[in-house]
Amino acid sequence: LFQINAVDKYLYHMRLSDENLMDVSKRFRREMDKGLGRDTNPTAAVKMLPTFVRSTPDGTETGDFLALDLGGTNFRVLLVRVSSNGKQTVEMENQIYAIPENIMRGSGTELFNHIAECLANFLEKLGIKDKKLPLGFTFSFPCQQTKLDESILVCWTKGFKASGVEGRDVVGLLRKAIKNRGDFDIDIVAVINDTVGTMMTCGYDDHHCEIGLIIGTGTNACYMEEMRHLELVDGDEGRMCVNMEWGAFGDDGALDDIRTEFDREIDAGSLNPGKQLFEKMISGMYMGELVRLILVKMAKDGLLFQGHTTPDLLTTGHFQTSFISAIENNKSGLVSAEQILRGLGLDPSPEDCVATQRVCQIVSTRAAHLCAASLAAVLRQIRDNKATDRLRTTVGVDGSVYKNHPQFARRLNKMVRLLVPDCDVRFLRSEDGSGKGAAMVTAVAYRLAKQHAE
Ligand code: BGC
Ligand code: MG
Repeated sequence: LFQINAVDKYLYHMRLSDENLMDVSKRFRREMDKGLGRDTNPTAAVKMLPTFVRSTPDGTETGDFLALDLGGTNFRVLLVRVSSNGKQTVEMENQIYAIPENIMRGSGTELFNHIAECLANFLEKLGIKDKKLPLGFTFSFPCQQTKLDESILVCWTKGFKASGVEGRDVVGLLRKAIKNRGDFDIDIVAVINDTVGTMMTCGYDDHHCEIGLIIGTGTNACYMEEMRHLELVDGDEGRMCVNMEWGAFGDDGALDDIRTEFDREIDAGSLNPGKQLFEKMISGMYMGELVRLILVKMAKDGLLFQGHTTPDLLTTGHFQTSFISAIENNKSGLVSAEQILRGLGLDPSPEDCVATQRVCQIVSTRAAHLCAASLAAVLRQIRDNKATDRLRTTVGVDGSVYKNHPQFARRLNKMVRLLVPDCDVRFLRSEDGSGKGAAMVTAVAYRLAKQHAE
């Protein structure tokens, strides 16, 4: 208990009260308005990007679709068969391909050549290289879209930094790489964000789903907004899905009062300093590193490991986010803490293990609660749009942190209920949203095109 109190005191600024969170939630709601407004958008940190996805699946979609999923934990190619003979079913084949770091951070041409090569390999393996199938591309980065099949990369996030892609249309780059090979042809129909894919996949099973949420390597959310609020897109009828890119919340200084010295250190050492500041407080790419920086400082201050550090503990990236999940396991957490710390060359006392577990709890709880604060703002927005007193809605969720951390989902759900008590929110885990979702969007686009033709 002494260790727990000591850590709580040490990390006082990382423990946000309900009032702090309500305040963050209100600030986020203002950021949303700013991003949606025509005049305010150019200086808004949260870009609220139109996706040109106007309707969720109605269950009558059918066909075979290819999908690419780039920007999550793995790069994948998929073949998705959507059928609706009485009962809606989705079957798929998928293959994970590695993207070596030198390609993630090399030239854009190499990156897209590599993607085209993986696609060729996949088609070959399935014996469908001669078919010109429609393809949906899940590209999980901020993109400016003017239509479904044109998507200009605003900036790389997470671990990507390939040159010559920012400011360019990724569909064009992919088409060019495929054309240069000349050994197969495909029809690129749609580019979507992974949040949109998640919303669409969950929307196939639950027609109330109107929000997509990712808490994985990065974090972000999308939701269905009224066209009349989307000042950047012509037309006032109906709704359109907005990719909020909430990871950029705080990039204009709006969160400076709650960011800690550890958050600033993470940012300074990142591939994109000054960018994605909210994401850096939350997502899997940074959470383990946050814990490591805290452990290092506590050790140096003589509060842990009898003041000792080790080369491993001092190395960037050596405290993985998955360690946090292991250490916070209710049953085996303290045993895991000891094993993990020993793996880093330390000789922890039982007190050190308890303290380390507390650090993990504080960092991951803050992440879950910050997500809850921004999500609560989205829920209030949708409730106000519908002018109802009680909103009943579904959030489709995906991402390694949400799915693998033993307490994250529960903490997030609980805080959302506290911040918006007048909403009945269902959290639905998406089964492979980024992959299937791209196929779903493509399938919906096909169905709508057919309807228009009739
Ligand atoms: C990207 C988003 C994406 C999120 C989750 C962020 O870094 O900017 O587009 O949705 O990660 O993958
Ligand atoms: Mg993904």
